[in-house]
Amino acid sequence: MKKKNKKQNLIKTKFYLLFFIITALFPGFSCSENLSREEYSRVEFVLGTVCQIRLLTTLPKERVDEVFDASFEELVKLDAIFNANTEHSDYGIGELDRTEISELELVNQKAGKESVPVSKELFELLSIALDIAKKTDGAFNPAIGALVKCWDIGFSGKSVPPKEEISSALAISNFRDIELKENKSSSAKIEYRVFLKKEGMRLDLGAVAKGYAADQLSSIIRRAGIEDALIDIGGNVLALGKNAKGRNWGIGLKNPNIGEQDIAGVLHVSGQSVVTSGNYERYFEESGKIYHHILDCKTGYPVETSLNAVSVISDKSLYADLLSTTCFVLGEEKSRNLISELRKKTDSEISILFFYNDNSVRLISEDKLSLEIKSPFVF
Ligand code: ADP
Ligand code: MG
Repeated sequence: MKKKNKKQNLIKTKFYLLFFIITALFPGFSCSENLSREEYSRVEFVLGTVCQIRLLTTLPKERVDEVFDASFEELVKLDAIFNANTEHSDYGIGELDRTEISELELVNQKAGKESVPVSKELFELLSIALDIAKKTDGAFNPAIGALVKCWDIGFSGKSVPPKEEISSALAISNFRDIELKENKSSSAKIEYRVFLKKEGMRLDLGAVAKGYAADQLSSIIRRAGIEDALIDIGGNVLALGKNAKGRNWGIGLKNPNIGEQDIAGVLHVSGQSVVTSGNYERYFEESGKIYHHILDCKTGYPVETSLNAVSVISDKSLYADLLSTTCFVLGEEKSRNLISELRKKTDSEISILFFYNDNSVRLISEDKLSLEIKSPFVF
């Protein structure tokens, strides 16, 4: 009998020790809390892409539904501001029907004519985009709309446009022709205005709007008291807190070799965004050559590079999105200085993974990352 008690006590001690280790390893997470957390998910097509939000919480379902409603309303609002594809036939899902145009499109239509009053959101995102454009001498270019439209890759563009069309589009794709003005009126309300100096000029924030949107959703979700969530805006992922197993979220990095469907690696993150830009999703092939959707404003053609993809890991989804495109254009060496400057200036964690077409992988990082790279990719 005594022996049995002793054994039971030993089991109890072991159990408490295990409990202690688990709670110590996952601060802010307790077993009882984990048991009562429910997982909820909602998917909708907004911002021209599939958006999924997963929430893990102890809040009642009605409250969770309100958070979903508020989040998707925010996405529809941002769509009405940033969408650059109003004329495309696959566009028009959400509140904005095809007869309406986005705020960004209105600025485009008034190019060369007059300045347009805009929302704080558009002004804020354009200011950041313009700052990066200056820092990178136009490698990232928010005024690239005319050139993007000329190629129309991922939509109707299936062949290389004539040289003359590319050079005329380039001539009206200069970010220095974007004028941003802030006017303080007498009522102390700030009026934001944007003017595109050249007729035909077009803004395109497709390389950064999804990241901006993910950050906005993160604020809404956290303000509602939800700490654990996964926001996926068309592959632009932002992971908050822990997954259903109480662990960091595992984010798969797609194999960036054209035609491959498996993954090249997995990142385990919490409180971070993972965004990838590559040449393998939106492209067409002509005479055996791939023409992808990330364009080089120095040439007017898709970026010529030995990279297949660039993934960025950052606590700010806006910078993850912006930099995945920018660093794909800049390449590894030129990205280094930009990253160290931005880390300091924006007080952000920024790590970059470069996937080359010989399957080698290189990392620029000062942060501790939990990353697995799978064969045939090599570090
Ligand atoms: P995704 O299509 O997955 O969002 P990106 O974030 O890399 O990929 O954005 C690519 C989009 O950005 C293009 O479709 C185009 O609209 C725009 N773009 C292409 N080249 C540039 C560039 N050099 N600077 C800024 N935006 C660009
Ligand atoms: Mg991007």
